[in-house]
Amino acid sequence: MAGMNIGAHLHLLDRLDSDLAQQEASIREARRRQVQNPELDAAERGAAARRDQLAQAMAEQRSLEAELADLETRISRDHTRLYSGVIVDPRELASLERELAHYRETAGQVEERCLEAMERVESLGVESADAARRANELRARWDADREALTREIESMVDALAGMREEREKLAAAFDPRTLERYQRLRSSLGHAVSAVDGGVCSSCHVTIPPKDVQHARESLVPCPNCGRFLSVP
Ligand SMILES: [Zn+2]
Repeated sequence: MAGMNIGAHLHLLDRLDSDLAQQEASIREARRRQVQNPELDAAERGAAARRDQLAQAMAEQRSLEAELADLETRISRDHTRLYSGVIVDPRELASLERELAHYRETAGQVEERCLEAMERVESLGVESADAARRANELRARWDADREALTREIESMVDALAGMREEREKLAAAFDPRTLERYQRLRSSLGHAVSAVDGGVCSSCHVTIPPKDVQHARESLVPCPNCGRFLSVP
C-alpha cells in the first residue's frame, strides 16, 4: 500500500461496485424482457376474444338460417294445401290462411335477424383477421428481438465477469475490516467514497479541513459530516 492513494483506490472500487450493480440490473431487465411481453399478451388475448365472438356470431347465423329453412318448408306445405282444392271447409281454409300468414310474418322477422347476423359475421371476420395479423406481427418482431437480446445478454454477462475480476483485484488491497465498513457505508448511503473537490466534500458539500485533505492522500479519512471516505485526486 506504500505510495498508494488509498482513498482514490477505494473510490475506484466504489465506482466499480455501482457499475456492477447497474450491470446486474441491466441483465435482470434484459432477461425479464426475454420472457415477458405484455403488449404481445394483450394482442393475443384480444385476437382470441375476437375469434370467440366470430364463432358465436357464426353459430347464431346458422341457427337462424335453419329456423328460416324450417319456416319456408311449412309455408310451402301450407301453400300447397291451400290451393290444392282438397280442403273445402271454409273454416278450415280460413284457419290455414291464418297459419300461413303467421308463418310468413315470422319468416320475415327471422330473415331480418339473419341478415343482421350475417353483417356481424362479416365485420367480426375483418376485426378478427386484423387482430390475428397484429398479434402475429408482434410475435414475429419479438422472436427477432429475443435473438438479438440473447446475444446482448451474452456479451453483458461476459462484461460482468470481467468487472468482477477487476473488483477482486481492487478489493485485495484492503483489509476485511475496511471492506466491512465500506460495505456498511454503501448500504446506508449508496456510496462509500466522496471526492474532495475544491476543498469541499462533493457529497455533502461541507468544507474539509486542509490537514484532512492532506491526510486523505495517504490513508482513509472519513468526511467529518457525512462519514464517507474522502478521495483526493
Ligand atoms: Zn461529506
